[in-house]
Amino acid sequence: MAEGRITKAVSGFYYVQSGDNVFQCRGRGVFRKQNITPLVGDFVEFDGDNPEEGYIRSIKPRENQLIRPPVANVDQAIIVSSAAMPDFNPLLMDRFLVMIESKDIEPIIFITKSDLINQTELKSIIRYQTLYEQIGYKIKLISVRQPKDLEGLSHYLSDQVSVIAGQSGVGKSSLLNGLNPSLQLKTDDISTSLGRGKHTTRHVELVEAGGGLVADTPGFSTLDFQDITADELADCFPEISERQGDCKFRGCFHNKEPKCAVKQAVEEGEVAKIRYEHYLRFLDEINSRKPRY
Ligand code: GDP
Ligand code: ZN
Repeated sequence: MAEGRITKAVSGFYYVQSGDNVFQCRGRGVFRKQNITPLVGDFVEFDGDNPEEGYIRSIKPRENQLIRPPVANVDQAIIVSSAAMPDFNPLLMDRFLVMIESKDIEPIIFITKSDLINQTELKSIIRYQTLYEQIGYKIKLISVRQPKDLEGLSHYLSDQVSVIAGQSGVGKSSLLNGLNPSLQLKTDDISTSLGRGKHTTRHVELVEAGGGLVADTPGFSTLDFQDITADELADCFPEISERQGDCKFRGCFHNKEPKCAVKQAVEEGEVAKIRYEHYLRFLDEINSRKPRY
């Protein structure tokens, strides 16, 4: 029995990469009966005597799994944001960070279009960069027009399975194309650019980029915190979660409660005010959400 990883799924066929070879496999009927669907990203055992007619025999337990895009065993999520056109938006950045943290996936931030900003704008971006670095996030400012910048991304991508997230127009497709010119994903055209495919049947594929694999369909497109509870929210802000053990009250929401270590850290400038404001805003969104039945 051979072992490999599913990198693509199209109409009942699973493409399993094993070493340098790709095997076209079908799932076992028994998966269907058990309601198990092999996912792109799954590690599998398969019958690969014939590279065109393989059979997946078993799926290894998953580390994690996303619904959009449907990928298993994701190592990290890259949030792409642009320095300009559209402007860098810290509120949106924190929404993406919370969504990704809530799935226990490591986020990385790439800020694109560095070639479009002047010195003053650069200073402002660098302030944000420092803020996120202090929290412990990896963040990199790049231009897809700079081959050197793209080469530098291998450091973050190699040997990892990544998904990309970010609003429309920030340069997600351009980035993937830059990293893997054979992809030729359409850019700039809202109706056809990455993630806005007209075809709902579009399948996700893990493509090579920067020495790793990246899902060619972006994720985390809904940012409404439907699955996050007020308790979980603080855990999605590393700088809040690491301090909340010092709050006077267990179950402190760091809002109106007295003797709150988080609020004190904000006052002392140890937790950035903007991050705390976003935390409160998200908390309010979660608390005012109608219960789902
Ligand atoms: P997506 O919607 O996130 O996939 O964004 P696209 O890749 O379609 O890019 C949107 C527009 O931004 C396109 O016109 C790209 O050429 C442009 N773009 C992307 N990255 C950069 C960059 O680093 N510098 C400049 N100047 N333009 C960029
Ligand atoms: Zn507190």
